Amino acid sequence: MNAEDPITIRNPGRLLTLTYVISLSVIAVLSLVVHFMLDEVISEQNNTGKIVNVSGQQRMLSQRASMFAVDYLQTGAQKSKRLSIAAIEKMKQNHQFLLAPHFEALSKGQPSPLSEELYNLYFMPPSDVDKKIKLFEGEIRAALSENGNVGAVQFSNGSLMFLQLAESDLLTPLHNIVGQYEKESLEKVNDLRNAQNVVLGIIILTILVEAFFIFRPMVAKVSRFATKLQRDANFDYLSGLLNRRAFQIVSQQAIAASHRYKRSLSVVMIDIDFFKRINDTHGHDMGDKAIKHVAKILKMSSRNADCVARIGGEEFVLLLPDTDRAGAFKLAEKLRDRISKNPLDVNGKFIDITVSAGVSYVKEHHDTIESALSEADDALYKAKESGRNNVQLA
Ligand code: GH3
Ligand code: MG
Ligand code: MG
Repeated sequence: MNAEDPITIRNPGRLLTLTYVISLSVIAVLSLVVHFMLDEVISEQNNTGKIVNVSGQQRMLSQRASMFAVDYLQTGAQKSKRLSIAAIEKMKQNHQFLLAPHFEALSKGQPSPLSEELYNLYFMPPSDVDKKIKLFEGEIRAALSENGNVGAVQFSNGSLMFLQLAESDLLTPLHNIVGQYEKESLEKVNDLRNAQNVVLGIIILTILVEAFFIFRPMVAKVSRFATKLQRDANFDYLSGLLNRRAFQIVSQQAIAASHRYKRSLSVVMIDIDFFKRINDTHGHDMGDKAIKHVAKILKMSSRNADCVARIGGEEFVLLLPDTDRAGAFKLAEKLRDRISKNPLDVNGKFIDITVSAGVSYVKEHHDTIESALSEADDALYKAKESGRNNVQLA
């Protein structure tokens, strides 16, 4: 059965749901990706913020350790010794914290997470920060343990190595490390931002694609489907006229309006004469053609406001607003005449068709169309009785 089959009507609901679910899933997945990327950006910023902060502390701690060590050596103040040791301890801890991911990766045989620039700053001359921090710690501890010289030490800047380290040899690379961490964190965040923008773009594109290529055709399909359903529900597929169901709805509205506004309303029942004979003589298909032929004449000969319906096999009814008995009779006569003078042309072979009609005028006592139709039907019976091909009034 194809889509045009009058019995099987393809329901687009299933496909609609499926396409919707798929496209919504795509958007949901992409939204999740954006969410996780945002999460990543935030935690990355948190993490790099901490790293930049800790590596920044190293500069301050190296200054602090050497300053208090010098003070201790000059004055013998125990507090300065304690503060110097505390600074150097903290510096060592920070150093371990900063290089923990590097050593962890190496112990697992994985490549170092450090960039080449950071690796060089930490482990390669001339910066060699890892080595210099250990040297600095050793020098500070050695200087602080020379108790005998306390207070009496006379030194020039060059005579104590830790001073030289704290002033430039270590300070400059520590400064460079902070700068490098800042630069890398900025780059990482920018990369993530760019990736996030790309995913956002993909989401917008997906929505647009969905709107244009899925939603729009779907809406068109559904509205075509609705139109087809409406047509099938209200129109007779053979003649294209209103069917009995639609006629009943329209006629009830018309009868209510005619009562309310005191306007005339008439009905005409029309039945093809000896239709069985047409079927029997020329075949059922020709019978169908005869029905279409009559329907066409009825439709073309009536006004737009008139309602023409096929309510049975070869039975038609016309509902005529603002038309009195005489007017309805005149129209029925005109229709009968036209049909009888226009035989059905089948490839040059003419089949004579005649109809009989019964006319009824809708009065106050007709609450429903059925009673008016019943009167028209009686008149139609009379028309048949009086020899067919004629019109009778109820
Ligand atoms: P009368 O003049 O008394 O109206 O005689 P009739 O032969 O027209 O009336 P009858 O009620 O005896 O026969 C109507 C026939 O119409 C019977 C039925 O097979 C045929 N018919 C009903 N619907 C259709 C249809 O849709 N197509 C065709 N081809 N025939 C139909
Ligand atoms: Mg009949
Ligand atoms: Mg008939």
